[in-house]
Amino acid sequence: MNIPQSSYPRIVIVGGGFGGIALAKKLGKKEAQVVLLDKHNYHNFQPLLYQVSTGGLEPDSIAYPIRKVLQGYPNFYFRLAQVQEVKTDTKRIKTNIGEIFYDYLVIAAGSETNFFGNKGIATKGMAMKTIPQSLNLRSLILENFEQALLTDDLHERDALMNFVIVGGGPTGVELAGALAEMKKGILPKDYPDLDTRRAQINLVQSGDRILPAMSEKASEKAESFLEELGVNVWKNIRVTDYDGKKVSTNTNTMFQAETLVWAAGVKAVEIKGLDSEEFLCRGKRLRVNEFHQVAGLEDVFAIGDVAQMETEEFPHGHPMMAQPAIQQGKNLGDNLVRLMEGKSMKPFVYKDKGSMATVGRNKAVVDLPKFKFQGVFAWFVWMFVHLYFLIGFRDRVVVFINWVYNYIRFDREARLIIRPFKKQNRVERDTLMQD
Ligand SMILES: Cc1cc2nc3c(=O)[nH]c(=O)nc-3n(C[C@H](O)[C@H](O)[C@H](O)COP(=O)(O)OP(=O)(O)OC[C@H]3O[C@@H](n4cnc5c(N)ncnc54)[C@H](O)[C@@H]3O)c2cc1C
Repeated sequence: MNIPQSSYPRIVIVGGGFGGIALAKKLGKKEAQVVLLDKHNYHNFQPLLYQVSTGGLEPDSIAYPIRKVLQGYPNFYFRLAQVQEVKTDTKRIKTNIGEIFYDYLVIAAGSETNFFGNKGIATKGMAMKTIPQSLNLRSLILENFEQALLTDDLHERDALMNFVIVGGGPTGVELAGALAEMKKGILPKDYPDLDTRRAQINLVQSGDRILPAMSEKASEKAESFLEELGVNVWKNIRVTDYDGKKVSTNTNTMFQAETLVWAAGVKAVEIKGLDSEEFLCRGKRLRVNEFHQVAGLEDVFAIGDVAQMETEEFPHGHPMMAQPAIQQGKNLGDNLVRLMEGKSMKPFVYKDKGSMATVGRNKAVVDLPKFKFQGVFAWFVWMFVHLYFLIGFRDRVVVFINWVYNYIRFDREARLIIRPFKKQNRVERDTLMQD
């Protein structure tokens, strides 16, 4: 990998997401050689992927070069590499560009879509976890409308304009809201010769309320916002299969839809060598102690989505969200410095700063530890928080300008089919593009 030998201990971080970047920033100026490996050369701001899928933002505005984030950190090295295996007995990592030795290893590889073994949904449905996947979805949505214009068959036309979004968490809710706004404000103008009123946006949730991780009030309000926008919210229904046209459920309800978006589950990214029962728990997450050490390994740590730290307050680990990853990255940074100085490490304590979701223009729900509010103010808070956490001044400015423009013009101008997405080679394409 062409990384010089150093008298400092080498800390290898796998993954430049929220956790990995927070950690690298903590360590980059300390007496350590920090090597960050990521299969992408950019940090992906996942909370805004749905805006890329619906043409509200260009992909470049939610991605940021990892090298740029850590410019000026003297002992920092980045390598564009896909980590393939961890050999804990020899303290080496195997990647597609070679092997590297570590003194301390931190796994911050995040999570991926969990289709729960359903082949039909995995191959015919759309995931939205990476930027290429969001671009695929954007293309498919737009291609479907172009195709709907061309057919005389009413059933086929309806299926092309029907969307089924599975999963009523923030991702599903935000995507459904954005699609509904597209249907209302953009499609009638773009496709005056198509009856876009027939387009249906269906949000399917297996439980009895959407946004189950938020307060009841937030769930109720989000549901009423979605209904105002014309989204069909289906609760207590489980999607069981999809053949590319027909969506089956565990009830008599069935949908004919050319687009199914699966936002109903994630699982930790698995890495060979750390994938045996002794290390893993629910959702394939790596079991860690209060110092982020992977069970039984003193020099291997895990943070963020990939890690499960079971505490009294969080018996199934912390939520798979940006804040736990960032806070864990910072805490581990301090702890590694303490460890290198021969001091004892400090246990991690998660500070819950709340959660939020937006449904659309002037419509959001916010649960803070002490206050819960919904509506216009919540929407401004949602925007401010997302701008604040975006990495890089340029991205903040670009996103802000886009939002102001979209707000004033009721528009989303990135509705472009730059890289066509053909359904028939969906599997190959998605696999190719997602890595
Ligand atoms: C659509 C969507 C919306 C979301 N909205 C919100 C939200 O509103 N609020 C919120 O708090 N959270 C949200 N989340 C969740 C949040 O994005 C994650 O919890 C967070 O990104 C986890 O951070 P992380 O550092 O653990 O992993 P990630 O940020 O996912 O980073 C993992 C990194 O590891 C790299 N990687 C993976 N495998 C390998 C490998 N084998 N070799 C090399 N590199 C590898 C990846 O390329 C990636 O850069 C959302 C997620 C999605 C998908």
